[in-house]
Amino acid sequence: MNKQNLLSLNQDALNDFFVCLGEKHYRTKQMMQWIYKVHEFDFNKMFNFSKPLREELNKIACIEFPRVVKQQFALDKVIKWVLALSKDNYIEMVYIPDKDRGTLCISSQVGCSLACSFCSTGMQGFNKNLRTAEIIAQVLIANKYLNSKVKCISNVVFMGMGEPLLNEQAVYNACDLLLDDLAFGLSRRKVTISTSGIVPAILRMSKRTPVSLAISLHAPNNKLRDKLVPVNQKYSIEELLKACKVYLNAGTQERHILFEYVMLEDVNDSTECANKLAKLLKTISAKVNLIPFNSFERTQYKSSNIQTIKKFQDILCQQGIRTMMRRTRGEDIDGACGQLSGRVLNKTKKIHARKH
Ligand code: SF4
Repeated sequence: MNKQNLLSLNQDALNDFFVCLGEKHYRTKQMMQWIYKVHEFDFNKMFNFSKPLREELNKIACIEFPRVVKQQFALDKVIKWVLALSKDNYIEMVYIPDKDRGTLCISSQVGCSLACSFCSTGMQGFNKNLRTAEIIAQVLIANKYLNSKVKCISNVVFMGMGEPLLNEQAVYNACDLLLDDLAFGLSRRKVTISTSGIVPAILRMSKRTPVSLAISLHAPNNKLRDKLVPVNQKYSIEELLKACKVYLNAGTQERHILFEYVMLEDVNDSTECANKLAKLLKTISAKVNLIPFNSFERTQYKSSNIQTIKKFQDILCQQGIRTMMRRTRGEDIDGACGQLSGRVLNKTKKIHARKH
């Protein structure tokens, strides 16, 4: 029998789990305290559980983590972890410290099927969706290491490997735990799902979780976006912006969207592109993040230079669009945006091989 990894269960699911064992609801709170506050993962050491309950838990449940294969430290204090889920499947996560915050960038899939042309993960192909436990384990592993160094995680972003909105249930359950005071207790503004634009999922997400939304836009028109972010051929910019407006109007609290725009020399960095982008985003509560492109092996792109990025930023700001320029971090350990690759047993390529 496969044991239930308790890291996969949000508070409601953990409640159900204990009810099925004939236990009272307070067991949920006790278990969450052991896991998320005390960081105790051995049932035998959970002294406030009765002996028969500990024996039962050992039989049917577990608290298991991926194996840490490598930890790398960049000159600018960025840390990258490589985690093994199995022999052929590795994921990466990155911690980016700043003066006033510490951001953990986590993965939601092993590889990615969406093949954005400027992304290292996209070039690896896709193997599998992560389970909630594999997502939450990333935060616990980083937390454990950082706590020992008196650092902390203030923000969690789904911007590592994979498209989070193609793994909705696991990602939403993980968001529940990230926001839950009994687990990580982060505010909804400090947890961000970043998507390349899976429109039906954005509509569902608007109702399901209050976390922040970021859109990997990268182009101001469909012709160019079709090439850079191929999922645009399925969900156009117009449909995407409509879904963004639904997200902004859902819920009772004020919401904003961050639009990410990777700066590619002579591809999407012209004055014309900047003006088109400003026009596109005028009607929406948007912030734009301009990201210098981080190079990787076999890429055809180069980053725009700093003057071009500044000029692009000025054009957007002059037209009332709040625009930031992201500093490149962790480049010397391939931990910068778009550089994460892990090692992926690519099932998409296997399927192609069978077809042809
Ligand atoms: S940018 Fe995101 S959605 Fe696109 S291929 Fe990379 S991981 Fe996938």
